[in-house]
Amino acid sequence: MKEAIRTDVLIVGAGPVGLFAVFELGLLDLKCHLIDILDRPGGQCTELYPEKPIYDIPAWPVISGQELVDRLMEQIRPFEPQFTFNRMVAGLERLPEGGFRATTDEGEVFEAKVVVIAAGGGSFQPKRPPIPGIEAYEGKSVFYAVRRMEDFRGEDLLIVGGGDSALDWTLNLQPLAHRLTLVHRRAEFRAAPDSVNRMLALKEAGKLDFRIGQVKALEGEDGILRGAVVKGPEGDFEVACTRLLPFFGLTMKLGPIADWGLNLDENLIPVDTERFETSQPGIFAIGDINHYPGKLKLILSGFHEAALMAQAAKRIVHPHEKVVFQYTTSSTSLQRKLGVT
Ligand code: FAD
Repeated sequence: MKEAIRTDVLIVGAGPVGLFAVFELGLLDLKCHLIDILDRPGGQCTELYPEKPIYDIPAWPVISGQELVDRLMEQIRPFEPQFTFNRMVAGLERLPEGGFRATTDEGEVFEAKVVVIAAGGGSFQPKRPPIPGIEAYEGKSVFYAVRRMEDFRGEDLLIVGGGDSALDWTLNLQPLAHRLTLVHRRAEFRAAPDSVNRMLALKEAGKLDFRIGQVKALEGEDGILRGAVVKGPEGDFEVACTRLLPFFGLTMKLGPIADWGLNLDENLIPVDTERFETSQPGIFAIGDINHYPGKLKLILSGFHEAALMAQAAKRIVHPHEKVVFQYTTSSTSLQRKLGVT
C-alpha cells in the first residue's frame, strides 16, 4: 500500500460546492485535500457548461461556468488546498483509531479526520462506443482518458469523436504519435473552431489523417489492437492502429459511493439540515449529491450547506476548541487567514 497522504478534511469532488467548502473550512483552520475524477476543478460548471451564463449566483448578475470556478479558485487560494485530479475515490473505510481512509482507483491512500462528499451527480463516466467486443481492449489498447501523454508516444493512434476532448487530444498527441488518425461521423465538429482549424492545418500539412465514418469493428487479439474497420460514406475502410481513444462524452453515475455503507435515497445521500452529515458520523454530503426536504440542486444551496457543514466538521477535528462566530468584514483574525491584513 502506498504511503498515506494525511489531511484534516478530504473532499470528494472539486465541483463548485467542494471548492467553496475549502473556504468555509479554511476560515476554521481546517486543511483540505480534494480529489476529482476529472482533470481540472469545476465539476459540472467546467465540464458541461463552461461558457454558458449563470444568472443566480448572489451578487453576480451574470457569470459564466468557467469564470465562477476561476473566482472560487482565487477565493480559496489563501488556504492552499491540495488537489489530486484524474482519480476516482473508490474505497472509503473508517479507521479504528478514528478518522477515515480513502483509496483511489490508482491505489493512492488518503487519511482524514473528516470526509466531505461533494460528488454532485456522481462520477462522470465515459460513454462506451457501440463497437462489439471493445471491452476486451479497454485498459490495454482502448482508453477513454489520457492520464499520461508519454504512454502514447510512438503509437499509431486512432482518435474518434468531434467534440473538444477529441480535438484537444488530437492536437496534443499528434507530435508524439507515430501516426494519428481522427475519425468523426461527419465533417462538422462541436469543438472550438480554433481547434478544428488547427487540426485541418495539420491534415493539409500531411501530419495527420482525418476521415469521416464510424468505427464498426476492432482487429487484434488478447487486448492488443492492430486496426479498426470504419464504415465511411463510400463503404468500409481499415485504419491500422495500436491505440484507440474514443471521446463520446460523459454520463454521470453514482459509482463507488454506492458501496460506502451510507444510507441512500434514489442515488442521493440523505443528510440532516443542521450539519449536512450522512448516516455515518464524520462523513458529510453537500451539493447536488445530498437530499433533504426542500432540497434545491442549486450552486447557492451548496454554498450554504458548506458553511454549516464546516462548523460541524470543526467540532470533530478540534473537539476542544471553541467555535466563535465571526464576520470576515470585522474579524482581524479571519482577515489574517485570508492574507488581507
Ligand atoms: P458537481 O459540479 O457535479 O461536481 C462534483 C464533482 O465530483 C465532479 O467534478 C465529479 O467528477 C466529482 N466526483 C464524483 N464522484 C467522485 C469520486 N468517486 N471520486 C472523485 N471525484 C468524484 N446551478 C445553478 O445554481 N444555477 C444555474 O444557472 C445552473 N445551470 C446549470 C446548467 C447546466 C447545463 C447544468 C448541467 C447544471 C446547472 N446548474 C446550475 C446546476 C449546478 O451546476 C450544480 O448544482 C452544481 O454543479 C453542483 O455542484 P457540486 O459541486 O455539488 O457537484
